[in-house]
Amino acid sequence: MSNFVIEAPAVTAVPVAGGGSFPVRRVFCVGRNYAEHAREMGHDPDREEPFFFTKPADALVINGADMPYPAKTRDLHHEMELVVAIGTGGRDIPEAQALAHVYGYAAGLDMTRRDLQAAAKKAGRPWDMAKGFDLSGPIGEIVPASRAGHPAAGKIELSVNGAVRQSSDLSRQIWNVAETIAYLSGLVALKPGDLIFTGTPEGVGAVNKGDVLEGAIAGVGSVRTRIA
Ligand code: MN
Repeated sequence: MSNFVIEAPAVTAVPVAGGGSFPVRRVFCVGRNYAEHAREMGHDPDREEPFFFTKPADALVINGADMPYPAKTRDLHHEMELVVAIGTGGRDIPEAQALAHVYGYAAGLDMTRRDLQAAAKKAGRPWDMAKGFDLSGPIGEIVPASRAGHPAAGKIELSVNGAVRQSSDLSRQIWNVAETIAYLSGLVALKPGDLIFTGTPEGVGAVNKGDVLEGAIAGVGSVRTRIA
């Protein structure tokens, strides 16, 4: 018997291809990890160390569920991303050992209130309410690395209502998965259950109520949601 004075929060769980589910602890996201996206956002991709922001675990949208159009924005953007699921924790993880800490991979969407992000950037304020709002992270099934390996290359694509909006290749990431894990684990101790959204390629743009978003990553899987 716990002595919690309210009901304990539920653990967010992402289904795993082949059975079972992955309990989520924290959700980290990499900013600007593809050169063309950095350029479209007005930055020089060659001069920046990786940087990170977070979403709450319960911001994930699972099993192809609808994502409600969020409050306080008129510019909801899609960002199609490879998601890394950490199975074994660690701090100061060497790059050469980083992939051994990965349980698996998924396709995910880092949905963004771009107008709130632009205002936060301009004011030098945090991005939390632009990125970490309720139901801001649709995610597909996690495929275990034991089945799929560690994808270093392959098409990453997002369509809205059947029209391709984002299309790139994982090999174009500025910081690959191993480098990202090594860098992030120097900032915080990674723990089992942590997810890392590894950044979006170019082609981000606005969506509206009723739009259907379908993303796929070669060798990893897919993600789908409808904006309700
Ligand atoms: Mn992103």
